[in-house]
Amino acid sequence: MILVVAEYAAGKLSKSTAEMVSAARDSGREGPVTLLVLGSGIAGVANEAAALADQVLVADLPQLAQYDAELWAAAITQIAREGEATTVITGGSRSGREYSPRVAVRLDAPLLEDVISLAPAGTGLRAQRYTYLARVTETVEADAPVIVVSVKPGTFTPAQPAASAGEQYDVELDLPAPRVQVTGKTVEKTSRVALSEADLVVTGGRGVGSPENFTSLVEGLADQLGAGVGATRAVVDAGWRPYSEQVGQTGRTVQPKAYIALGVSGAVQHLSGMGKSKIIVAVNKDAEAPIFKVADYGIVGDVNEVVPALIEQARNK
Ligand SMILES: Cc1cc2nc3c(=O)[nH]c(=O)nc-3n(C[C@H](O)[C@H](O)[C@H](O)COP(=O)(O)OP(=O)(O)OC[C@H]3O[C@@H](n4cnc5c(N)ncnc54)[C@H](O)[C@@H]3O)c2cc1C
Repeated sequence: MILVVAEYAAGKLSKSTAEMVSAARDSGREGPVTLLVLGSGIAGVANEAAALADQVLVADLPQLAQYDAELWAAAITQIAREGEATTVITGGSRSGREYSPRVAVRLDAPLLEDVISLAPAGTGLRAQRYTYLARVTETVEADAPVIVVSVKPGTFTPAQPAASAGEQYDVELDLPAPRVQVTGKTVEKTSRVALSEADLVVTGGRGVGSPENFTSLVEGLADQLGAGVGATRAVVDAGWRPYSEQVGQTGRTVQPKAYIALGVSGAVQHLSGMGKSKIIVAVNKDAEAPIFKVADYGIVGDVNEVVPALIEQARNK
């Protein structure tokens, strides 16, 4: 089987899970695409997962109520061994990056890390990934009875739910006692949709002019549209916005249904993080800006004039 470790948040399957299922199908490896859902009180997530995969393995256990890299690695390894997995696919999230090397070591498997594409290569796998701060895209291959692959979020087109759901099976696990305790958690209060989950993204570039304008124009429009907020590296480097919002080769990769770029030039490093968006809308005062080459809709104009009008329109709808 191809074992895909499901990612979810707040009781909902993350987009990254559907992206990993696509990677699993691209791999052409042997066996059913099997989603593994680990956690406690996860029946809803498991039901969602069933629409995406051939089968779902559910470990709904009180010991798994709190994420722990050692427990996750132990659980994934046990299931991979028992199910004779040919491939284990994990997310390139912070937790995925934490447990996937542990899984690879335990399974004595090669690890293809943070891949942006996946394809069969003989009896093994060929993948691409960025390296040297994304200045280089390298192609890597591995051939082994079991291969661990971690998938860069936002790079694969999410698999669509099927009409008929895959079978669900409960699994038993022999888990070690956790050695790390979470003793506190502060959750950022925001009503805004996460960038990686957003169907609509509004991104601001240096052309927005200042951090204050970013708040009023970019966040203002995003809030009216219920969109996630993105930023270019120029804006992040200037300290206007946090790195978590950076879109591009050295930031996040997104592929929303619509991407609105305000005062963004469209440098190649930025395009590589959003170029797969379904519809691209750009506002830029320079008609020659490269962003217009990829935009489906473009407005040549000053963001200070155009964006308040867009916000007003959105508010009235
Ligand atoms: C190794 C490497 C990795 C990189 N990774 C990333 C990455 O992950 N993400 C990323 O974004 N960049 C990345 N970059 C940087 C990238 O090359 C660009 O420098 C950057 O994307 C430019 O950001 P920008 O479009 O905001 O700014 P600029 O290129 O300065 O563009 C600003 C745009 O705003 C327009 N403008 C100005 N004023 C107005 C106005 N009033 N109204 C309307 N339009 C206006 C201008 O015409 C211009 O097109 C990377 C570079 C390197 C070398």
